[in-house]
Amino acid sequence: MSDYCEAAVRKGFEEIAFTDHLTVFPNGSSSTGSLDWLRLESYVEEARMVSEKYGGKLTVRLGLEVDYIPGNEKILEDMLDSYDFDFLMGSVHFVGGICIDSPSHRILVEKEIGKNGFNKFYSAYMRLVGKAVETGLFNVVSHIDIVRIWGFTPSDGFLDEQNVLRLVKQHGMCIEVSSRGLRQPVNSIYPSQRIMRKTRELEISLTVGTDAHSVEEIDYAYDSLINYVKAFGYDSIATISKRRIMERKFE
Ligand SMILES: [Zn+2]
Repeated sequence: MSDYCEAAVRKGFEEIAFTDHLTVFPNGSSSTGSLDWLRLESYVEEARMVSEKYGGKLTVRLGLEVDYIPGNEKILEDMLDSYDFDFLMGSVHFVGGICIDSPSHRILVEKEIGKNGFNKFYSAYMRLVGKAVETGLFNVVSHIDIVRIWGFTPSDGFLDEQNVLRLVKQHGMCIEVSSRGLRQPVNSIYPSQRIMRKTRELEISLTVGTDAHSVEEIDYAYDSLINYVKAFGYDSIATISKRRIMERKFE
């Protein structure tokens, strides 16, 4: 965390948020890409330490990117209950046992799409995102249409998106605008323009994130993200402290 903070200060950021992955399956097992939940305590402690160290220079927010997998709600609740995170991001990476953004599962995704078409897959994914929102556990939806990762575009699915965004609005949540997709085969910012227009119409707040998995990535295409947000008429982005959303206006 200290390395990330150091880089953030050097690159002129005033604020940084850590959102390590937490993936827990309904049977209690975890995935290899996940933070070990037994280490949550030290994760929180490390954030407290860097927050102190960089106080005045950099605001440090602490969260998690938590996988929603039907049936894991209760475990998540119990696991996260005792920590005071600034915010939690909810994400869907698993559709019917397939990890949609894993290169080793790409062939399974393509097989599924070959069989039933992308619209069906997109719908199934979006319904899961809607369920994640309805758990009420999260403050932000991460990379809401990462299901496009391998370059597929839905020709349908507008209603599924609308349903999800209405739920997001009802729950007072934010949508993340992410540059992750710019370093994936789809080569596009998440969410799509179609989702962005609806998000704007519903006046849903946006957070921006680079989904950095290395220090070098912390500002990946950051200017493009801000320009993208502005292009849809937004004059601010959201930052979240202790579950409270605050808008930061652009200068
Ligand atoms: Zn993710």
